Amino acid sequence: MRNIISELPDKIGEEVELKGWVHIRRDHGKLIFIDLRDRSGIVQLVFVPQKGENGGVHAKAEELRSEWVISVKGTVSERPASMVNSDIPTGGIEVQVSEIEILNESETPPFPIDADGKDINEESRMQYRYLDLRRERMANNIRKRYAVTKYIRDFLGARDFIEIETPILTKSTPEGARDYLVPSRLYNGKFYALPQAPQQYKQLLMVAGIERYFQIARCFRDEDTRGDRQPEFTQLDLEMSFVDREDVMSLTEELIIDIVGKLYPEKRIQERPFPRIAYKEAMEKYGTDRPDIRENKEDSNLLAFCWVVDFPFFEKTDEGKWTFTHNPFSSPRKDFMDDLMQKRNIENIITDQYDIVLNGYEVGGGSIRNHKPEALKKVLEIMDYSEEKIQENFGHILEAFKFGAPPHGGIAPGLDRLVMILQNEPNIREVIGFPKTGDGRDLMMNAPAEVGPKQLNELGIEIKKEKNKKF
Ligand code: ASP
Repeated sequence: MRNIISELPDKIGEEVELKGWVHIRRDHGKLIFIDLRDRSGIVQLVFVPQKGENGGVHAKAEELRSEWVISVKGTVSERPASMVNSDIPTGGIEVQVSEIEILNESETPPFPIDADGKDINEESRMQYRYLDLRRERMANNIRKRYAVTKYIRDFLGARDFIEIETPILTKSTPEGARDYLVPSRLYNGKFYALPQAPQQYKQLLMVAGIERYFQIARCFRDEDTRGDRQPEFTQLDLEMSFVDREDVMSLTEELIIDIVGKLYPEKRIQERPFPRIAYKEAMEKYGTDRPDIRENKEDSNLLAFCWVVDFPFFEKTDEGKWTFTHNPFSSPRKDFMDDLMQKRNIENIITDQYDIVLNGYEVGGGSIRNHKPEALKKVLEIMDYSEEKIQENFGHILEAFKFGAPPHGGIAPGLDRLVMILQNEPNIREVIGFPKTGDGRDLMMNAPAEVGPKQLNELGIEIKKEKNKKF
């Protein structure tokens, strides 16, 4: 039966069977040392030259190269005191190999896997992502990301939230970015949109009486490439009924403090409860609505969270029309509800929106929503949407709100960003299994790619060659 490497320190003197990859090979004259790697860690294998039946084992070890896949049997022994490596959990032991089987060979990898890989060209790392993910730093990032996700699920599950999947093929919702469109085969000329966020669905789930919803949700935004953006990213999307902003903010805060305390005990949260800064104050004092309030920016383990609140609801577009600053579904703060309903004092209306900021990054945002159809409609009217456009884009939600929609609100912390900062990584690509380049390409799969005439024909689509040709 296969043993995993992390359990070996408790098995001194025992026979074990290990399977994994050749991490590093070192020949010391007659002795051959292999660092064997599996999902749980690394251990040193020792091959001693022997005469007779076992002689073949040492000879096979001579053939081994980096990243070959092997299975070995051997005995766990303590290393001599002078050979102990206190940097790794298995540094006090080694395995004296008595049998070996080569399960697969490997070509020489295009880049080294035994270091952190920060100096390697990123395009190459992305093209060979399945190799890049073998390196300890990346494997650790991906495992930690899962630990955070699982923590979130357990935390919310224990508080009566349920996770509900919402459609990926949906209709464009006005979240402020450009949609990814998917052409319909059955309805030529019509398109689905990939969700920029499950905003309307989660609100409709509140109308449906779910009361406490969450989802580890994928969001898609076709934005022009800006450094740390991905065309698809993940957020913890959540929504609650019968709450005010204090409820949503305190739940979010408790969840984040717990994640840090349980999974990142080495980190220190600068201030708890998280300080709150009004938008106006943030702009005046820091010149940004995502201030980095760290006392000491050298300390990689310092987490300075803050809430930014009291944002203006509307701002002017370049064409001089009003648009929402964050989310058209937000409600105004109570004192401004009359102004909204009368469509007056628009520039001063404050929204019940809250953003959570960590070390200068916006790591999430949410709001209390307008649950009365008249109020939502006023927002759309202020933005000068025609009755026709309102019905086409929002008719379903305005209709739903007529059937006893409860007061509700929510938030959506970005998972990629949060894990990036917790893992001390410089960008979100380092904590995403298969990220895209800054200009939206998947170098491993070679996407986006052209499709054949048959597929296009079925979709009723013709490509204007000259116009969109990028290469
Ligand atoms: N849907 C919003 C977003 O993705 C978050 C929210 O208001 O819940 O930014």
